[in-house]
Amino acid sequence: MTNLQGKTAIVTGSTSGIGLGLARGFAGAGTNVVLNGFGDADEIERTRAELDAASTGSVIYDGADMTKPDEIEALVKGAADRFGAVDILVNNAGIQLVAPVEEFPRDRWDMIIDINMNSAFHTARAAIPGMKAKGWGRIINIASAHGLVASPFKSAYVTAKHGVVGMTKTVALEVAEAGITSNAICPGYVLTPLVERQIPDTAKARGMTEEQVKRDVLLAAQWTKKFVTVEQLAGVALFLCSDAADNITGVALPVDGGWTAA
Ligand code: NAD
Repeated sequence: MTNLQGKTAIVTGSTSGIGLGLARGFAGAGTNVVLNGFGDADEIERTRAELDAASTGSVIYDGADMTKPDEIEALVKGAADRFGAVDILVNNAGIQLVAPVEEFPRDRWDMIIDINMNSAFHTARAAIPGMKAKGWGRIINIASAHGLVASPFKSAYVTAKHGVVGMTKTVALEVAEAGITSNAICPGYVLTPLVERQIPDTAKARGMTEEQVKRDVLLAAQWTKKFVTVEQLAGVALFLCSDAADNITGVALPVDGGWTAA
């Protein structure tokens, strides 16, 4: 296992859910972590201090908005200035909206494409020169099973996640000889605030109760009949940063209880 102590990871959208779980995993491995995302300032500071105290590395927070390319560039530059480099880039920030395509609000479409897809371009563009200079880097994009297959009423999300998978592969080829890998993790359903929030909308769009949505929609395709956990995803991300994963690049790795195998 690569020693990740002294390395630095940016995890976008890490004030909640999967991103927070990944940040916790990296902090536990002694990596410096840059937390990012929205939320209550006091709560974010409590989380930052807790992770920082539990780590041999340092944990800082940057509230860059993933819809704003200038703020994204400043996030990467700020991390490099503070820690000397960005070794690990985890593009995780994401939002969802569940609605039929003909009723999909234009501004929500743009926002989902910006946060879930375009931000991963802006971060990678800013971080790759520093990784090349060090001859080592890891880019991990948190895509989704919806980066590999579709579901109805999630047009913007499925489009963005398929785009992220394509970007992951293209970047992997471009940086392959520079000691940098680029991979996507494609989780099935994880019970986070993002998923909790879409249950009422899915129920409305499909004419179901919320319990039916959990049982018959969310876990219907997950053959294990279990939600994926953030701890499992942190373990996969740490593996992708290990020496054993040096030759794993351009992969879209499903962590989905068999969903996309069927
Ligand atoms: P979440 O809602 O719990 O967390 C989303 C994070 O993104 C939060 O920290 C939020 O503040 C941040 N964020 C939102 N808009 C932002 C912006 N403009 N700038 C910066 N940060 C912003 O969601 P989650 O379920 O943890 O999802 C995280 C990622 O995992 C997303 O990309 C999502 O698509 C993906 N994913 C989730 C699941 C799931 O079942 N939960 C499954 C597959 C993929």
